[in-house]
Amino acid sequence: MTRDGRSSAWPRVFAALELVKVGAQHRSWLWDNRLMSSLPAGLVVWDVDGTLIPADLRWLRRSVARTYQIEEDEVVFPDKRVHGYTDESIVVDTAVCSGVEPQSAENGIPRFYSVLAQVMAEGRVELAREQPAYPGAADTIAALHQSGFVQTVLTGNLRAAAEVKLSVTELDGFIDLSIGGFGSDARDRFELPGVIAQRFATHYRQSLDPRHTVLIGDAPNDIATARHAGFHVVAIAHRMGSIA
Ligand SMILES: [Mg+2]
Repeated sequence: MTRDGRSSAWPRVFAALELVKVGAQHRSWLWDNRLMSSLPAGLVVWDVDGTLIPADLRWLRRSVARTYQIEEDEVVFPDKRVHGYTDESIVVDTAVCSGVEPQSAENGIPRFYSVLAQVMAEGRVELAREQPAYPGAADTIAALHQSGFVQTVLTGNLRAAAEVKLSVTELDGFIDLSIGGFGSDARDRFELPGVIAQRFATHYRQSLDPRHTVLIGDAPNDIATARHAGFHVVAIAHRMGSIA
């Protein structure tokens, strides 16, 4: 890693240490109150784009163009409701902004699923080159795993896209995607905490306690989603190089 790269990673390392400290407190509380059971220290729910890896609209731009058979430079994203929203809602809004009739935009969604999966599969090398994980992301995930946290994602990405992004960037080692909430589960992001809670309960045979759940994200809608679900929230501002 370059000298600059090393220095840019420090804020994330410090953030990891702070989160580990919170985790240790949570685990202590759980152990004190639940008779040293094997419960996890808590659940960390990661957003993906703009949080673990840089946000990059090229995959949606390419997929929208192929889905609706328009040129990539004709794809127009809406001014709002992009970052922090789900792929389905973004694609419909983008198609309409790009001149597609609203009903045709809706009708294209099933095709978008297969097109995006193909675009992501074709783009693995490009993704690794252009959209590597933020410095410190892998270390933070590993540190939280060491502290006993279960980790998953809450993302607007369709599941297939999230799997490719986390696999290519090698961030999926300690993240349990089987209990994640994805853009392919619901068009409304506010429904995704419920999806995670249901999968968590099935997998770990216990109810998800929002008081021991932390959502980490970069967009205002991540914060709104966490508040809606009663989760704690950590807002990350990578472009300012700090954690708010
Ligand atoms: Mg994000």
